[in-house]
Amino acid sequence: MNTVTEPGLAGAPAEAAAERRRAHETNKLSKRLHRLVGQAIADFNMIGAGDKVMVCLSGGKDSHALLDLLLSLRERSPVPFEIVAVNLDQKQPGFPEQVLPDYLRSRGVTFRIEQQDTYSIVKRLIPEGQTMCSLCSRLRRGILYRVAGELGATRIALGHHRDDMVATLLMNMFFGSRLKGMPPKLVSDDGRHVVIRPLAYVAEDDLIRWAEHRRFPIIPCTLCGSQENLQRVQVRKMMREWERQYPGRIDNMASAMGRITLSHLMDRNLYPFTTLEPTGRADPGGDKAFDDEEACGTIPTVELPVPPIAGTTRKA
Ligand code: SF4
Repeated sequence: MNTVTEPGLAGAPAEAAAERRRAHETNKLSKRLHRLVGQAIADFNMIGAGDKVMVCLSGGKDSHALLDLLLSLRERSPVPFEIVAVNLDQKQPGFPEQVLPDYLRSRGVTFRIEQQDTYSIVKRLIPEGQTMCSLCSRLRRGILYRVAGELGATRIALGHHRDDMVATLLMNMFFGSRLKGMPPKLVSDDGRHVVIRPLAYVAEDDLIRWAEHRRFPIIPCTLCGSQENLQRVQVRKMMREWERQYPGRIDNMASAMGRITLSHLMDRNLYPFTTLEPTGRADPGGDKAFDDEEACGTIPTVELPVPPIAGTTRKA
């Protein structure tokens, strides 16, 4: 007997399996993101009971994910805290004004849209062809600090992630000759606010996937027409290439920022190199000044021949 297969049905089991796989991966991603954000918040004591967290929402994937994850974590948190989203409308041409208010209303989030035409100021002051980001960010920072004060926010949350932090570390080393990154928590330069980066442990690729899955209404960051800082572009390209060749390298670098051995760097202000003296006590965990196995990652296992001791005969 001939079997008739309806068109389209043959592929159905494969599609269902693919869908199950996708759902499984998304579930894993969700768990990972919640775990890493929760971990960063706990590790750095970012949010406490009664805090009012002002989430800076630019409309890009990172700040959308930050808000989304904080809203979700707040529901499960034993510690009560408030969230208020703030978007700064900088009056860039073509900025879709209604997108974020509509989205925030749909999610029931308390929000404030601050309208300040920093775009015209930056355009007027920065010569054509030069990057405007430095002045633009400075103006934005000042406005956001003011708004945080007006709202009574006790925390300002930014959407920088793990890869931003590693890129900043590398840029400061390469172009600024400083070992300095981007902290997960800091006191603002006006001394009045605590700024937090709850995505400090989160990889950018995970945020891209989360933004796709959650279908955030993304506002492109190219509206101002500014070129991205060329050095940052180069560093990001290098990081991508490293990660492709040696998966896990960015994670290792990010972890390294939290495991610093001051005695093995060269900052005389942070470690008392100039007054070092022998302690007279053996330290099994101490430095083996002339060995480089830690650095190269291999420990030699070659057995060295035992030299005969004068006046003794070794048994066969
Ligand atoms: S990309 Fe445009 S909006 Fe963003 S910091 Fe630079 S100048 Fe400002």
